[in-house]
Amino acid sequence: MYQDTIAAISTPLGEGGIGIVRLSGKEAKEIAQRVFTGGLSNRRLNYGHIIDPDTNEVMDEVLTCYMAAPHTYTREDIVEINCHGGLLPLQRILGLVLRYGARLANPGEFTLRAFLNGRLDLAQAESVLDVVRARTADSLRLAVQGLGGHLSQAIKAVRAELISILAYLTARIDFPEDEVEPQDILTPLKGALQQLEELIATAGAGIVYRQGVRTAIVGRPNVGKSSLLNCLLRESRAIVTPVPGTTRDTIEEVVNLKGVPFILVDTAGIVQSEQLVESLGVERSRRGIEQADFALLVIDGSEPMTELDQEIIPLLDEKTVVVAANKSDLPRRAVPDSLPWPVVFTSALTGEGLDELEEEMLSTILQGRVFTSDALMVSNPRHREALERAERHLSQAQTSLESSMPDDFVTIDLAAALSALGEITGETIQEELLETIFSRFCIGK
Ligand code: GDP
Repeated sequence: MYQDTIAAISTPLGEGGIGIVRLSGKEAKEIAQRVFTGGLSNRRLNYGHIIDPDTNEVMDEVLTCYMAAPHTYTREDIVEINCHGGLLPLQRILGLVLRYGARLANPGEFTLRAFLNGRLDLAQAESVLDVVRARTADSLRLAVQGLGGHLSQAIKAVRAELISILAYLTARIDFPEDEVEPQDILTPLKGALQQLEELIATAGAGIVYRQGVRTAIVGRPNVGKSSLLNCLLRESRAIVTPVPGTTRDTIEEVVNLKGVPFILVDTAGIVQSEQLVESLGVERSRRGIEQADFALLVIDGSEPMTELDQEIIPLLDEKTVVVAANKSDLPRRAVPDSLPWPVVFTSALTGEGLDELEEEMLSTILQGRVFTSDALMVSNPRHREALERAERHLSQAQTSLESSMPDDFVTIDLAAALSALGEITGETIQEELLETIFSRFCIGK
């Protein structure tokens, strides 16, 4: 248990109906009692005022919830002060509780405590962030599944199997052969290996659903990029109207295609390309492509390919690409068959070919990997990496067993596999890695 009490604003900064200052730790209740006029009955919303005890100034009228340990998110005493959702009341109330003994929480520290106090395992704690950041209903379902601990259970089952094999081998090493009952360990080892392989196989699609696909829409000016973008966004936004001086550089547009989030990079570049000299258009495409995992190359199907089209093509060398040959409502002039990527004829004007385009984008990204929302899926690259490491060690252990190497060779790999799997649930993990994981959270979570 931690000695100090942490506090943070747990709602987004900005104006809102309510805002919450959250405290967790041994002194949470005591600190709250010093600044809050109401009582603090457990698991009730208590009405009262926040008052600065030094000046008697009333800071806000609030509802305060006290939740006694251990049945809380962090397993510590928690107090949540629901005040009015403005920057100033929130900041002043936070300032007050910090003055009366709380310490400002680090990003993710509430969840870190939940993990360290055994409320969640590490994979579940990471899912908390995935729930907050989910971009489509399918991403959310995956995240909630992670929160429920399904992956952790599967990992624990494999670990239990490996531990029992390891125990047997250790006994065989330590005691004379006739004292240890012979046991088949190759079969359970192969079984564990197969389970890991099945989990790893789900990771490709799982990661796509969780993280989304960073997508660049590229092509020379006037081929219909912004028109297509709008069709994909399913609603005409101000973004197609080129208003001088508007930059949308910081806005991240997300197109949800059948549950896969396509995160569009540099949409500002699309809008502005018409106004830019052509070489700048290429430069922008280059930058967009650099940031993307996937590119939608738009060409004008009603015109022969131009030099500028040809200039963009080599930029896409290493990328996953789908080509939209747009303006299919006009007579066809381009010959996109020479391109090494799948081509779909579309018309942003009539909507023709858009369904096919979406299908092609999805199947190109998922490459036949199917997604079933209720099946267990690995959606976190960190988990995949640990699973792959465990798999390598288990294969090695299997090879050693089959070639009758000394037991020590097998146990070393078994232990390494166990440790890699333990990193997923957090049973074996270094502090440094924990810090990296939780630093991605926002403060107050
Ligand atoms: P961008 O510069 O690549 O973003 O192209 P825009 O989306 O701004 O489109 C350029 C011009 O082509 C506009 O006048 C659009 O109305 C027109 N356009 C876009 N898509 C189509 C299409 O599918 N068919 C036809 N006939 N015109 C289109």
